[in-house]
Amino acid sequence: MLGQMMSMPLLTSSLLLHAESQHGDREIVTRRVEGDIHRMTYRDLGRRARQLASALVGRGVQPGRRVATLAWNTHRHMELYYAVSGMGSVLHTINPRLHADQVVYIADHAEDQVLFFDLTFLPLVEAIAGRVGTIRTFVAMTDRAHMPASKIDGLLCYEDLLAAEDDRFEWPEFSEEEAATLCYTSGTTGNPKGVLYSHRSTLLHTYAAALPDSLNCSARDTILPVVPMFHVNAWGLPYVACMVGAKLVFPGAGLDGKSLYELFEAEGVTLSAGVPTVWQGLLSHVAANDLRFSTMRRTVIGGSACPPAMIRSFQDEHGVQVIHAWGMTEMSPLGTVCALKARHDALTPDQRLAVQSTQGRAVFGVSMKIVDPDGRALPHDGAASGDLLVRGPWVVSRYFREEGPGPLVDGWFPTGDVARIDADGFMQITDRSKDVIKSGGEWIGSIDLENIAMAHPAVAMAACIAARHPKWDERPLLIVVRRPGMALSREELLAFYDGKIAKWWTPDDVVFVDSIPLGATGKMLKHKLREQYKDHELPAA
Ligand code: AMP
Repeated sequence: MLGQMMSMPLLTSSLLLHAESQHGDREIVTRRVEGDIHRMTYRDLGRRARQLASALVGRGVQPGRRVATLAWNTHRHMELYYAVSGMGSVLHTINPRLHADQVVYIADHAEDQVLFFDLTFLPLVEAIAGRVGTIRTFVAMTDRAHMPASKIDGLLCYEDLLAAEDDRFEWPEFSEEEAATLCYTSGTTGNPKGVLYSHRSTLLHTYAAALPDSLNCSARDTILPVVPMFHVNAWGLPYVACMVGAKLVFPGAGLDGKSLYELFEAEGVTLSAGVPTVWQGLLSHVAANDLRFSTMRRTVIGGSACPPAMIRSFQDEHGVQVIHAWGMTEMSPLGTVCALKARHDALTPDQRLAVQSTQGRAVFGVSMKIVDPDGRALPHDGAASGDLLVRGPWVVSRYFREEGPGPLVDGWFPTGDVARIDADGFMQITDRSKDVIKSGGEWIGSIDLENIAMAHPAVAMAACIAARHPKWDERPLLIVVRRPGMALSREELLAFYDGKIAKWWTPDDVVFVDSIPLGATGKMLKHKLREQYKDHELPAA
């Protein structure tokens, strides 16, 4: 027997409509790349998103088609979030820190039609404009007064586009299973892979993210997402903010400690979110200038493991609660949040810190299991460590336009993380089995780096692994076997990377060895190398 409740699709436009009607005068503040502080309300957001949707429809952007961005966290990016998905098209947020070649690959793979970009990224857009296959329309996210002189043919101005439209656009109703946004991640092998979120997955994720034992957001909060809107939708905060009616503060391009601190204080930010590297910059600034947070109450830290010293510094010195969270692009991204249970109140501060240093427990909607190399489930006893698999309504089932069987194993998504889970459900990442390096919250493809090294005539074999780095968490370390009789120095090999990758991808160090351990099928045993070089000291560290 079917239930008899209204069947209403879960669409992102409903979040915007709710924010407009229930929190219409709540502010959205942006430090813009043009240098000013811009203020508007959720009512303005609704109006401007409708104008933008009208403009896009008028330019022939059809439902399901991809509209790309290369943009910071700003009110205009937020308008794009709601306009593009709301009209039934797909917002594709591209990571502007990637090399131009990768941006071209991703834009072509996604078959993007329109590209919106912040002025900061004009040089990148000019470098790719003649190379991308499907983008016909380029829009600079600025006003007429700041339009740059550019070689891009027919470059459009964002504010002109909006000004030409009225705000009578009505958000269409369609299936909640339709795609809303697209985000590419570094897969374990080869090229970046697209994760295509649906309206349904986004809305369910938003409910889960807002919960008290998740990111704990309410109408009383002022939220500043430091995590970029091109990184898994800023961990869902642009949606959560509309759902709960929080004031939003967007930092634009100013992500250094000083700029962030000033914005926190000026706007009364209560909650923020970002990767550990960003907080390191902020904490150093605060310590060096003997500053205090007057309104900050909580900060979400994830993307890579939050060091216990950082938790202690935030909580003990500044009274800011750390919410340690784990997730992935493939998980929208929320998987676990380290929210303490009532009985943890009885723990000593050191014991509590130990719990908070774990990645936390699954939010409702996400199931987790750990398995041994044969796929057998391991106990959740806090001791056994195995490959972590997840499932849930906001977990990827297949990568965008991917052929073949897809990533799932018996209906579970293998995360590439290795973890243990205790009897309380608290999960702790112990290692990573996937072949990628995470530097300051951004992926570096180890296979790309190996392929470049292998193209050098003096290299017989090369393996690239993550080495610990105090600031960036991980940096690439290259292990190389030279060809017999050939000379090659560290400097020569590193210079060989120039121009082939984004500069910050260049390995930090090279170690020359006689041989690299191989497995039975001839594959390099990277876990052995990781173990062997886990204490390797990088020259720059
Ligand atoms: P991304 O797809 O860029 O969000 O990266 C997801 C990956 O980042 C995870 O699979 C983990 O390897 C790593 N990661 C994310 N959050 C954490 C965390 N709190 N602790 C350790 N690793 C993390």
